[in-house]
Amino acid sequence: MIPQLLISEFGNLAIATGLSILFLILVFLPMEKVFPAKAKQRFFRPSWILDMCFLLGQYILWAGLVLWALNHFDYWLFTVIPQNFRDAVATQWWWIQAIEVVVLSDFLIYWGHRLQHNVPFLWRFHKVHHSAEHLDWLAAHREHPLDSIYTIGIINLPAFVLGFPLETIAGLIAFRGIWAIYIHSNVRLPLGPLRMLIGSPELHHWHHDLDRHADN
Ligand SMILES: [Zn+2]
Ligand SMILES: [Zn+2]
Repeated sequence: MIPQLLISEFGNLAIATGLSILFLILVFLPMEKVFPAKAKQRFFRPSWILDMCFLLGQYILWAGLVLWALNHFDYWLFTVIPQNFRDAVATQWWWIQAIEVVVLSDFLIYWGHRLQHNVPFLWRFHKVHHSAEHLDWLAAHREHPLDSIYTIGIINLPAFVLGFPLETIAGLIAFRGIWAIYIHSNVRLPLGPLRMLIGSPELHHWHHDLDRHADN
């Protein structure tokens, strides 16, 4: 029974990963073609296969992490915060929850990212992400597994522990995932001042450039 279960789990993961890659290509390829930041950068640019391996690694890591956390960790986590507090959090209007989770996770990721750059131990892993020389939708996935675990954890665990329901968190994870890929993509959308609101690839590409040079 167990090997069969594993095979079907693996099959589901492979299908989900394939569909996600297809979705990303369908969304980002036309944008990178029509509004390119660097017009000369090709789809299959150098290190494409390497970054694709990082992408596949992330999907496997993600699936494993989420299953592991849900199976082994939840009881311990839930005893840290009193249940009536968690209930109060979960019964708020959904849009209030959404705003709270965005503010909380923005705050955490901002400071978490600063630590990734300023604490030598964390930088050891984060510098893999900054080693990408060609930024596009695929390069967004170039991350050391421990760096991914750190980022995923710092964004999502506190909200999870505080009692925000999985549905609220899952929706925002999906949104944040797409947004993170967008800011790495080889795209310059003519959005004008709207850029300030949804975040801009310019700023993040600049962050990458600065750091690669600082490290060399
Ligand atoms: Zn960084
Ligand atoms: Zn980046």
